[in-house]
Amino acid sequence: MDSKLLTDNFPANLRVLVAEDNPTNLKVANLILRPFVSLFDSAVDGVEAVKKFKENKYDIIFMDVQMPLMDGYEATKCIRDYETENNLKPVKIVAMTANAMQDDIELCLNSGMDNYLSKPFKRDDMVRIIQSLNL
Ligand SMILES: [Mg+2]
Repeated sequence: MDSKLLTDNFPANLRVLVAEDNPTNLKVANLILRPFVSLFDSAVDGVEAVKKFKENKYDIIFMDVQMPLMDGYEATKCIRDYETENNLKPVKIVAMTANAMQDDIELCLNSGMDNYLSKPFKRDDMVRIIQSLNL
């Protein structure tokens, strides 16, 4: 039996930014997301993530919490502040964390993220998270 979760109900033209400093994790995310997103963009640190967010329009940002220059929590706060200042509809932000402890989860949600994904993640984890966002 095929256990792969279906992506039929995903919005067409899904635009995704993945902020991740680990090249292997970035590649895995790319391989998983490519078949059903219309735009896959990437950033290697929090500063680049915030910059790309301001310059483009995304439906989802997958945000690694530990990145150089600016971590995922701080980048999320910058994005939420920018949205408030500019009356923008909040983009969905999903944390990617290796430490899915209760404290980390609370930090993610308190900084303005919508949900979190534990690393290492598989295709079905990512699909399930996207489904939970009700896009
Ligand atoms: Mg990292």
